[in-house]
Amino acid sequence: MEKKLSPAMQQYQQFKAQYPGYVLFFRMGDFYEMFWDDAKIAAKALGVALTSRNKGQPDEIPMAGVPFHAVEAYLRKMIAAGHKVAICEQMEDAALAKGVVKRDVVRLMTPGTLTDDPLLDGRSDNYLAAVAFNVTKADGYRASVCWVELSTGECTAATGDERQVLDEISRLRPAEVLVPEMPSGREHEFADRIRAVGVKAITARAGWQFTPHHAKEELQRQWQTHTAAGFGFADDDPAVLACGAILSYLAETQKSGVGHLRSLRKHTVDDHLSIDPASWRSLEVDRTLRSGGTEGTLLSALDRTRSAMGGRLLRQWLRTPLRDIEHITARQEAIAAFLDSPAALKSVIEKLDDICDIERIVGRLAVNRVGPRDLASLSRCLQSMPALLEVLQAMPRSKEVAPELANLASFCGEQATFLSSAVLPDPAPHLREGGVIARGFDAELDRLKELAKNSAQWLSQYQVRLSTETNIPSLKVSYNKVFGYYIEVTNSHKDKAPIAWTRKQTTTNSERYITDELKKFESEALTAQDRSVALEQQLFEKVRQTLLPYVESFQELAFGLARVDVLSSLAALASERRYCRPAVVPQRVLEIIDGRHPVLDQQLGSEFVANDTRFAEGDTLSLITGPNMAGKSTYIRQVALITLLAQVGSYVPAKSATVGVADRLFTRIGASDELHAGQSTFMVEMTETANILNNATDRSLVVLDEIGRGTSTLDGLSLAWAISEHIAGTVRCRTLFATHYHELTDLSDRFKGVRNLNVAVREWEDQVIFLHRIVEGGTDRSYGIHVARLAGVPRNVLERARQLLGELAVHHTAHTRPLRSKNKPIDENQLPLFADPSKEVIGELAAVDINAMTPMQALEMLGKLKGKL
Ligand code: ADP
Repeated sequence: MEKKLSPAMQQYQQFKAQYPGYVLFFRMGDFYEMFWDDAKIAAKALGVALTSRNKGQPDEIPMAGVPFHAVEAYLRKMIAAGHKVAICEQMEDAALAKGVVKRDVVRLMTPGTLTDDPLLDGRSDNYLAAVAFNVTKADGYRASVCWVELSTGECTAATGDERQVLDEISRLRPAEVLVPEMPSGREHEFADRIRAVGVKAITARAGWQFTPHHAKEELQRQWQTHTAAGFGFADDDPAVLACGAILSYLAETQKSGVGHLRSLRKHTVDDHLSIDPASWRSLEVDRTLRSGGTEGTLLSALDRTRSAMGGRLLRQWLRTPLRDIEHITARQEAIAAFLDSPAALKSVIEKLDDICDIERIVGRLAVNRVGPRDLASLSRCLQSMPALLEVLQAMPRSKEVAPELANLASFCGEQATFLSSAVLPDPAPHLREGGVIARGFDAELDRLKELAKNSAQWLSQYQVRLSTETNIPSLKVSYNKVFGYYIEVTNSHKDKAPIAWTRKQTTTNSERYITDELKKFESEALTAQDRSVALEQQLFEKVRQTLLPYVESFQELAFGLARVDVLSSLAALASERRYCRPAVVPQRVLEIIDGRHPVLDQQLGSEFVANDTRFAEGDTLSLITGPNMAGKSTYIRQVALITLLAQVGSYVPAKSATVGVADRLFTRIGASDELHAGQSTFMVEMTETANILNNATDRSLVVLDEIGRGTSTLDGLSLAWAISEHIAGTVRCRTLFATHYHELTDLSDRFKGVRNLNVAVREWEDQVIFLHRIVEGGTDRSYGIHVARLAGVPRNVLERARQLLGELAVHHTAHTRPLRSKNKPIDENQLPLFADPSKEVIGELAAVDINAMTPMQALEMLGKLKGKL
């Protein structure tokens, strides 16, 4: 028979029931223990031993534990693995408890709701997102995503179709996404797709939390608004529903409220250059394809920011390039302003080194998790502000750089004065032991501290005073554990002891007394330390409360500084790497002179060969042929990245550039580099291509690398041809297509706006030298054998390949040449390919299993094969 659970285990289960979905860290003395399934989850995620309570008994319970003093590191691991944790503390001293120790859940941690510094990466955002859907008569089925960065208070939402919402999620890479709990249907599928773009933690929430009624209540509670119209949303916009779901989740997890959440900001998908998840990955903006690391990414090449806030803002800017020329120009102007004042730029950059993470500190302030050291660094940072603001204000075009900072100078001054008067410059890390509040802030605290510190001094002064007053030179004020403080007078002088003294103890040689004054001192001195710690805690909370009304101004300051950091760092980059200011124009053009790949440019330095790009109005497709390893991918990526940078508002690595604003950027590059669970490389390639063909508009920029490689040459070439035709003839957008199918160069004869480019190669004796220079015209050699030699393929294999190449080339030319003839009329329905049908027929015949065929099937097969000849 099963034994009844112990009281502690019953208590554990009560909390478990209260917090479903959380792993419960249950404090038991010096450990946090996990039981049952939680123990198994924790053991796996943390790499700690799975043991058991009541081992060998019928009521054995799986158990895992971590020591309390190292809990932060374990929490980090749990969160990184996508788990949510509820921390249940002992609320009373276990030794004094009657019955089971009182416990309570004091902290809920989920991947998307972190605010504590050690758990966060300073340079990246940590988003909590929610998705919602609805169907309206006017707009049909719509999806939304709302996202919050709890540690900074940013709250934004976007609405669009499912694809657009997925694009946003894939770029935001939220740490956690809330989805409505519905067992079947579209929402369920959508959760899977969210998982597929790399979100680890998906939290299902009750469907009613995503309803208009609920959203209305939540918005009212958070921002005292009756309608979402003020934020630019209709009340039935799914963005508002998603926001409602987020607000109630935050109310649940952040027990102290989230007053610092700014208003709900609208992110209009159409205002930004949209980039789908696959394209985003292949551009390697913030993660590399191969390792998923940051080294070698666009971000790491560009990032010269000095502060964590600037680092995060740069990431945000790269993630959401703009379409609005005015907005882009404003950023360019600010960079130009810095470049016009090199001395100011240098000075600003130096001063930015002193900037702390105001944004996150203020976020922690709002959710009541701010620490003493946070306030000390905020204080230091505010003190350094006047110097920085002065330099900015003195710049000739200061308005363009940081308009919002101009009004904040006196605010910074006041807050700096207040904080330095309140908090010690180098306070203790925790409030547990005091040592946080500055001297002079509170008279009572100063007195208590003085008392604790000076008790020895006070005692010796007291002793001198008494000794003089009573004329007893040998009088002593002493202390022992049993009697506390006492005055000791030897027997020879005891007659001189004043009557007011109370006798406490008699020893052989002396009498011991106590006075009211000494008693008062005793009670104060002995408790002074405890009382001063308690008082410091109260005062710290008072300081926090004093700062709370200024959260918005702090956020404005933080944003202004982050902006200055990003703009000055982009200016520094532009001057260091000789970037130019691109002309960003509405026309569908793209002209880059001496463009460079922003990452390789820095890695290769002067060895990097700059190249031009030209799309006049009406130009559509540039086909780039050339040997492998010649630099085709680099070139086409470089064009995509320069466009992206231009639309971010940055200068670009080129001598000069004119960039016509693109609405979407598609890149389909090297799926072979990626692992796709359960999908063939070719399937992935075609899915991505389908996405491009279906969604590109004439304003898009498309960059394609080696389409059709994942299938037979014949299939591949046919597909590449048809895709190119579609782009050049129907979509008519600016497209760069790197391919080894030189047959495609014929397209330039058939479509206006198609241009052939190739990568220059110099042959010298038996060697081939890649010049990495893009030149006009097609090519019909691939130099694959040359690359194979570079890679170390054995000489005899190379010889054989060369021999075969010769034979095949003869064969190949025989079939293709006539079709290339300009004089011959071309039948549009029949692609001018090079195929030798007999080869295909032989291939199919060889694959046939005659024994498995009925005579009828055999006959059909024969008919089909004949049809092919
Ligand atoms: P492809 O796509 O033609 O196979 P890649 O673009 O991958 O070639 O380039 C191969 C290598 O050539 C790159 O890793 C780089 O080291 C070098 N490379 C490419 N473009 C340039 C350039 N413009 N200047 C200098 N080196 C380059």
